[in-house]
Amino acid sequence: MKTNKLRACKKCHILTEKEICPICSLPTSQYWSGYLAVIDPEKSEIAKKMNAKLSGEYAIKVR
Ligand SMILES: [Zn+2]
Repeated sequence: MKTNKLRACKKCHILTEKEICPICSLPTSQYWSGYLAVIDPEKSEIAKKMNAKLSGEYAIKVR
């Protein structure tokens, strides 16, 4: 997967190619680090910590 084109939502941290987050409708940032794939948010401690409620790909840090 090419991550260099991806952007991350400043609020929910989900990774997307779009400039607006499909979940929050907030602007996304190209400056992010740390990659996390959430498959089962209910069972993932790190997903809970990050408040990731949907399965998908997330950035750990967004600025
Ligand atoms: Zn979002």
